[in-house]
Amino acid sequence: MRIILFGSPGVGKGTQAKILSTKFNIPHISTGDILRQAVKDQTPLGIQAQNILNKGELVSDDIMIELIKDTLQNPKCKNGFILDGFPRSIAQALAFDKILFELNITDVLLLTITADEEELVQRLTNRRACKKCGNIFSLNEINGKDECPICGAKNSFYLREDDSEKVIRHRLEIFKNTTRPVLDHYEEKNMVIYINGSLPVDEVTKNIVSAIEVRVEKKNSISA
Ligand code: AMP
Repeated sequence: MRIILFGSPGVGKGTQAKILSTKFNIPHISTGDILRQAVKDQTPLGIQAQNILNKGELVSDDIMIELIKDTLQNPKCKNGFILDGFPRSIAQALAFDKILFELNITDVLLLTITADEEELVQRLTNRRACKKCGNIFSLNEINGKDECPICGAKNSFYLREDDSEKVIRHRLEIFKNTTRPVLDHYEEKNMVIYINGSLPVDEVTKNIVSAIEVRVEKKNSISA
C-alpha cells in the first residue's frame, strides 16, 4: 500500500501517518521529520534548511526531490510507504510521478485531510514538541506534566519556532498558493480521497481505513 497523506499544516497528517504505519506495517516517511533531524544533527542539509524551516518556507524542490528519490529506493519502502509532507509543489509532484514510473509503482492513493483554517491555527499554537524524540502533543494531552509520555524525557516540551501564529499563517498561505495545486494534479488522475480531519483522531483513522478498503475493493472488482 502506498499512501500520500496530504493537507494543511496541523491537519493531523503526522498523527494519522504514525497510526497507519503501525496498522499496515509500512514505513512513515515524514519529510518534515527528516529535515528537523538533519537540523538537530547539523548535517550539511540541516544547516542549509534550518532558517527555511524556522520561517515556515519551503526547502527547494531540487533538494526535496533528491531526498525522496533516495528514500523510496531504500528496500524498507519496497512493500509500501506513507508519505507525509511530500509532494508540496507541482514541480515535486511531477518529479514524484517520474520516480513512481521508474520504480513501476502504480497503486498510490492521495488521502487529503481537511479542516477549518482557524481550527488549524488553534491546534498548531496549542501543540508542543518533545525536544528529545520529536513527538508532538497537544496542551490537553500534556495537561501540566513535564515528562514526555513516549520517551520519558523531562522538561523537554517546547513550541516549535514554526508553530508561532505568525509563521503558521505564512505556512497556511504557502499551502494555499503552492501546495494546494498538487491536489488538482492528482484529482485528474483519480487518486484522491477526502477525509474530514475535524473529527476525533480514532474516527479519522476509521474513516481513512474504510475509504482505503472501498477503493481497493473497487479496483479489484474492475481488474477481476
Ligand atoms: P512539516 O513537519 O511537514 O510541516 O514540515 C516542516 C517544514 O519542513 C516545512 O514547513 C518546510 O519548511 C519543510 N518541508 C517539509 N517537507 C517539505 C517539502 N516537501 N518541500 C519543501 N519543504 C518541506
